[in-house]
Amino acid sequence: APAFAYGEALQKSLLFYEAQQSGRLPDFNRVGWRGDSGLDDGKDAGLDLTGGWYDAGDHVKFGLPMAYSATMLAWGGIEQKAAYAASGQLEHLRNNLRFVNDYFVKAHPSPNVLYGQVGNGADDHKWWGPAEVMPMARPAYRIDASCPGSDLAGETAAAMAASSMVFRDVDPAYADKLLTHAKQLYTFADTYRGKYSDCITDAQSYYKSWSGYNDELVWGAVWLHKATGDASYLTKAETYYDNLSTEPQTTTRSYRWTISWDDTSYGSYVMLAKLTGKQRYVDDANRWLDWWTSGVNGQKVKYSPGGQAVLDSWGSLRYAANTAFVALSYSDWLTGDGERKQRYHDFALRQINYALGDNPRRSSYVVGFGANPPTKPHHRTAHGSWTDQLTSPVASRHVLYGALVGGPSAADDAYTDDRSNYTNNEVATDYNAAFTGALARLYAEYGGAPLAGFPQDEKPDGPEMSVQASVNATGSNFTEIKAYLVNKSAWPARALNDASLRYYFTLEDGVTPAQITLTTNYNQCGRLSGPTQFKDDVYYVTVDCSDTVIAPAGQSAYRKEVQFRIASAGAWNPANDWSYQGVPTASGSTPVDAANIVLMEGAAKQWGATP
Ligand code: BGC
Ligand code: CA
Repeated sequence: APAFAYGEALQKSLLFYEAQQSGRLPDFNRVGWRGDSGLDDGKDAGLDLTGGWYDAGDHVKFGLPMAYSATMLAWGGIEQKAAYAASGQLEHLRNNLRFVNDYFVKAHPSPNVLYGQVGNGADDHKWWGPAEVMPMARPAYRIDASCPGSDLAGETAAAMAASSMVFRDVDPAYADKLLTHAKQLYTFADTYRGKYSDCITDAQSYYKSWSGYNDELVWGAVWLHKATGDASYLTKAETYYDNLSTEPQTTTRSYRWTISWDDTSYGSYVMLAKLTGKQRYVDDANRWLDWWTSGVNGQKVKYSPGGQAVLDSWGSLRYAANTAFVALSYSDWLTGDGERKQRYHDFALRQINYALGDNPRRSSYVVGFGANPPTKPHHRTAHGSWTDQLTSPVASRHVLYGALVGGPSAADDAYTDDRSNYTNNEVATDYNAAFTGALARLYAEYGGAPLAGFPQDEKPDGPEMSVQASVNATGSNFTEIKAYLVNKSAWPARALNDASLRYYFTLEDGVTPAQITLTTNYNQCGRLSGPTQFKDDVYYVTVDCSDTVIAPAGQSAYRKEVQFRIASAGAWNPANDWSYQGVPTASGSTPVDAANIVLMEGAAKQWGATP
């Protein structure tokens, strides 16, 4: 048997992209706890920019990592198509690539305009709740000819060109559509030069273009050449290759880093080696992967005692997985250098196995997979807080299957499953991208079946909507109730926009409805009305909260308090009242779940039993 069930890991890793979906969820979405969200995205720009992926544990749609992730997923799909098909994952790969490419199409409304971010980083990050009930404005940001971004446009061109190859045989019209956009975007990137984060300045604190755009100009041309066979793109890629970064004070191509959302140079070393066979690309690829394995001039990437290659503190497992995927792709192509071929392969296997559980902690770093996996990833929607608090509730309410967490922050194999730590415990679309391709490749070699009947729908952890009540005051002819209308929904999170509460009571003999008066001295919702006859001498009072939104979006948003007094000009006895049952009467009681007070959303009952 293989060391790990690579097919299951692949299946889960792909599912993670469905948990990240923004906009109207497609029919194929399999994450039962997700709902529609971000439905106004683009409205400020007069466009429909719904769709795409939430970047990480937050809800910003950052264009550069989104495009990079799509490119890497597509690369894996192209090379490991047979493994995707054999594991039953090809359809899911295509679904998810189509979803993100549909967004790129919307984000590219004219040849020299590309929207590269929706959502403001600071506003998004200061709120901690589920995507479905986000309260903040989500501005759209773009690049265009007057303020361009060759990195963003070049990477998006690469993503669409690479993705076109995944659709070529099943939907050639869609493949052609993606190629049309890819070509226009590449021309835009090439003609109007600039760093996107100089224009979309909000991205600077999150996804600044550190490496600049030369790498994406090579990379975009590489993928356009691969997708079209057009030699002019190969010429561009080889010409612009000379602009790629070098080690300080040398003419040696950079090798002490790796492929990521910011810098795709390392991917171009390998792709151009494979496309042309030329020694310069082979040398650059070898030097880079030697630094990750045996060393160059006695230096190499840091290794932990337990065998993790650790490049950087932030998302260390992602860098190792990115390198592993490209190393496998390169190793599969290498001939006549058996030692390197084996060494690069073994490095990749070791790094992926480390992430899956072959490490000193004997623990998986993939949520919902393997032994002792992380349960508290830094992810707002999976946590499901209704009070806008990262620490409450303590346990995450959803299993974010397949998400690779950041992992150890140093080369010491140490890690704690702490939701507040976004360096080692956040998840991201770019973390999973090359990782998914590497899993497909290892499935091809070692197997390890995906799970049947996966995923199962989760069960809510309790009532999502409820009424809590206590008796606030009482007298010989009245009862005053203090009640909360509570919304802790998370399957999926959803707002109550038309809520009302119904309190049922029995009129005493000889008392008419006209003798009942309703008053309130504290009420966070709208109006009291009634009594309305339910049946015989049973009536109810309605508290209409349709003028307010009750949503699991913060301490004052998730519940509304109402206090109402029902008084009688005649006899009054609450003991026989339906809704009074189980409501604590001692003065100062904390409201508790009130089983017989009904919560409605419009005409649909959400909580409580009627008489
Ligand atoms: C967000 C993370 C983000 C981090 C750094 C946090 O508030 O939750 O998603 O990675 O800030 O920007
Ligand atoms: Ca770059």
